[in-house]
Amino acid sequence: MVLLAARQVDAPIRLPAEVGHLVGDRDRVRGQRIELGEAAGTPRGAGRRADTIHRVDTILQRSTRIYLAGHTGLVGSAILRALHEAGYENLVVRDVSELDLTDQHATRRFFAQEKPEVVIVAAAKVGGILANWEQPWEFIFENLQIETNIIGEAHAAGVSKLVFLGSSCIYPREAPQPLREDYLLTGPLEETNRPYAIAKIAGIELCRSLDREYGADYLSLMPTNLYGPGDNYDLQTSHVLPALIRKFHEGKTADRPVRLWGSGAPRREFLYVDDVGRAVVFCLEHVHAADVPDGMLNVGCGEDLSIRELAALVQRVVGYDGPVEWDSSKPDGTPRKLMDVSRLRGLGWAPTVLLEDGIACAYEWYLENRA
Ligand code: NDP
Repeated sequence: MVLLAARQVDAPIRLPAEVGHLVGDRDRVRGQRIELGEAAGTPRGAGRRADTIHRVDTILQRSTRIYLAGHTGLVGSAILRALHEAGYENLVVRDVSELDLTDQHATRRFFAQEKPEVVIVAAAKVGGILANWEQPWEFIFENLQIETNIIGEAHAAGVSKLVFLGSSCIYPREAPQPLREDYLLTGPLEETNRPYAIAKIAGIELCRSLDREYGADYLSLMPTNLYGPGDNYDLQTSHVLPALIRKFHEGKTADRPVRLWGSGAPRREFLYVDDVGRAVVFCLEHVHAADVPDGMLNVGCGEDLSIRELAALVQRVVGYDGPVEWDSSKPDGTPRKLMDVSRLRGLGWAPTVLLEDGIACAYEWYLENRA
């Protein structure tokens, strides 16, 4: 059973600096616990306007029923590990063959049957530049369907707390670095994944609208580039870090030179995926959407390095000592992509896995699981 506390919303949006003393303070609200529905004298899911009535805060217990959508994916499996690690024992998961979230009726039936109290949305149609470029319709349409179904049905079923996973591609292509949350919708998006980015922006807006109109607690998290166990090592579709691991490993075992794309000059930020898993649990336990502007937080480590520096790190971890060639005729992409993570840091969360240690774990997983 989720225990709830009602408190007056007199300032719906607070600056991060002001909320440090509010977040995560269960004792302050423990004495006010009441059952869902009694909180504001309204039934679950009924319209509660944040500016006129109490906000409903969920306090998680180990027995809280949590539905994690997308638990088989890179991010979802890390969230599942983090939930287990934190002791949550009433988890609901479905793979896509059991529940296709593009199917609204199936999604509605699922919520009616399973009655989750908290929802985490790590389900999405995800792909690299090529896939996004070749299937713009699938990327916007399926992601919009997944988001409207799961967020809409969660709201209709009275789910009081939800965490939605977005992506750093929601920020304008030419936005200043590091990327701050308030750069959202301040300029044109990168053309190659615009349909996907627009679907993700719509997801943020769905959550934000429910927060503002109904006093929901639906938070959106924007992770930086992620890597770790379960990553995609297909060189046609993989991201840069798993591609480097595979190329250096194959260079080592076949004793041949390693050829890398671009100049190596672009700078990127990387976060071990289990750090995101723990960030999601941290936010479930300590952060309310109403406490952060637009109910939105970046998740990253706040530091970047050049692809050349990253390649040297991967080379060391893999143990490849042959020649490395850079093919500078291949495109470099955006010169720099770094998240401003001061908002989440200010709330008390920080990553724990050093890049070199994370790469070693990812390489170990690759060795055990490569085809
Ligand atoms: P994956 O492709 O690894 O996982 C996607 C998950 O969604 C899988 O569990 C998949 O199930 C599920 N899924 C897809 N379509 C449906 C559907 N119609 N119904 C039900 N489930 C479905 O993606 P990631 O884990 O990498 O990404 C998850 C989220 O994290 C995305 O929103 C992404 O934008 C975000 N993110 C990821 C980053 C990264 O570097 N990977 C960086 C920043 C954000 P199945 O396996 O059965 O198909």
